[in-house]
Amino acid sequence: MSERGVYFFFLLLLFPLQSFAKPICPIGEHWVASHVRRTYVRDDGNRVRAAQVKGHCRKNPRGYEKWHQNLSNNRPKIWGYKQEESKKWSVDEIERLHEALSVLPDVFLNLANVKIYRMHKSQFPGNPATSNNKDITLYDLAFQRKQSLAQIVAHELSHVLYRKLSEKEKSSFRQASGWIEHPEFKGALTTEKNKKFIQPDSRLSVDEDFSNHLEHFLFKNKSLKETSPKAYLWIWDKYGLGFKIKLGVKK
Ligand SMILES: [Zn+2]
Repeated sequence: MSERGVYFFFLLLLFPLQSFAKPICPIGEHWVASHVRRTYVRDDGNRVRAAQVKGHCRKNPRGYEKWHQNLSNNRPKIWGYKQEESKKWSVDEIERLHEALSVLPDVFLNLANVKIYRMHKSQFPGNPATSNNKDITLYDLAFQRKQSLAQIVAHELSHVLYRKLSEKEKSSFRQASGWIEHPEFKGALTTEKNKKFIQPDSRLSVDEDFSNHLEHFLFKNKSLKETSPKAYLWIWDKYGLGFKIKLGVKK
């Protein structure tokens, strides 16, 4: 051992390497660094109180193995909203997001290559999240609202799901939800006169209407059944029995 080596050896004795690394958790768990937890309402309706959380190993929620690699502190490569600024995920928010994802149906959790970003504020007032291609951005509002984070994420993932539908499926959804060819402008779409809109922004596009439909199917099932019965059946037929919020399911 050289003189330098001896010096390094003694340094190691004084400061073991593990003290610099993050603790290793058993398989199926992940390390949650100490952080301040803000109060929020969980999807099962339970209120989680604000607390100073000490670093600990936490059991991986359903879907964790896939999603933890898909969170990014950067900016999406293509993002048209120039004024929107990226920010870093906090430990508190990461844990909340995983909790929210864990209650969503498999069809969302199995979506490939979706990245989830964190930004300060949307260009559109009151907007908690945006999706573009396979990129989803969550803004501060997504973590401050009383509305469930799982609902916000389900809506954005529904946009990704819509883009993956075949033309035939898109056309059959349009039919079921009251969208028709515009009588005067070739190639443009309009809605049937008696169509009921589940949300005001459903008027914007079939894509928006589709995401609102899936969001309502999962979170306000009864109201969708009454407002848009044909599309309700379409969703039932396409996504089947497993398409529901999974509360109390560990894996
Ligand atoms: Zn939307």
